[in-house]
Amino acid sequence: MTAKPHVSIVIPVYNEEAGLDALFARLYPALDALGRSYEIVFVNDGSADRSAAILREQFERRPDVTRVVLFNGNYGQHLAIMAGFAHSRGDRVVTLDADLQNPPEEIGRLLAKMDEGYDYVGTIRRKRQDVAWRRYASRAMNRLRERITRIRMTDQGCMLRAYSRGVVDTINSCREINTYVPALAYSFSRNPTEIEVAHEERAAGETKYSLYKLIRLNFDLVTGFSVVPLQMFSMAGMVISVASLAFVIFLAVRRLIVGPEAEGLFTLFGIAFFLIGAALFGIGLLGEYVGRIYQEVRGRPRYLIQAVLERPAPGPVSVVPREAAGRDDAPRNAA
Ligand code: UDP
Ligand code: MG
Repeated sequence: MTAKPHVSIVIPVYNEEAGLDALFARLYPALDALGRSYEIVFVNDGSADRSAAILREQFERRPDVTRVVLFNGNYGQHLAIMAGFAHSRGDRVVTLDADLQNPPEEIGRLLAKMDEGYDYVGTIRRKRQDVAWRRYASRAMNRLRERITRIRMTDQGCMLRAYSRGVVDTINSCREINTYVPALAYSFSRNPTEIEVAHEERAAGETKYSLYKLIRLNFDLVTGFSVVPLQMFSMAGMVISVASLAFVIFLAVRRLIVGPEAEGLFTLFGIAFFLIGAALFGIGLLGEYVGRIYQEVRGRPRYLIQAVLERPAPGPVSVVPREAAGRDDAPRNAA
């Protein structure tokens, strides 16, 4: 492996034992066919199945172009990608899912687009192969995000994307914990573009995103890149206080003219419940931001690395233990 390949492919892996062999069988030939030097950085995100063992075998089969970062636990897809970025050496970095939903054969087209001078190539899934409710929910979130952030992405969900070294280095200097890599990269790119790519059904296994995790991810996307939700709450609060002041004056005047009244009790309940609901949502939203601030100020390591399998170039194959595990900026003890 040359010290600096042309392109690094970063792939997060979480419980993908059923599909990894199919991925290898398509990914390596597709990259070999490109005629550009490459490395593949797999990040095992604390899989509980045989994924780590399968990645180790693959590393032993192709140590020249394969590197494996092993997390000691599950930190989520986006932190896995961030760790992959930190360990990548290529001039360009392409991210890809491990489940073959992103065809590896499209990588060449992403790189060709970068040759035109773009530093960020986003993608739009031509015909998205996911269940209907996810497509609709994702479209709605896409629209909301377009409105309240400055990030312009036609299809935010597709992970098959290419980034320049400059963008990746800037991301590497970030210490974000709950983040959304494509949006973060977009905010650092000078010259972004998008292309259409194919999308396939999951090759094997099932989605790693429960409804709960999807909702969390969308909070990351919105609150991680915009404070508009908070501002909307102060705006709404202002309108409601002005309206209720007018209402109180109206009732006071009415009290003087008509005398005491006790009608409209349930209307009042209705209004009160609505406002309580809105207030609770507001507190929760505030909590989202405060929780993020709390995580950031604690400054704990974002992820812990158990081992990195890589071949120090040039030389024999070796497994590099990471005693100083954790801080991704810890010095590399290349054995
Ligand atoms: N993934 C991960 N950690 C997680 C969840 C997912 O590394 O906690 C990886 C997963 O192995 C896959 C990619 O992220 O390579 C996308 O996950 P998935 O295909 O389940 O998401 P979906 O396509 O359903 O949105
Ligand atoms: Mg998938």
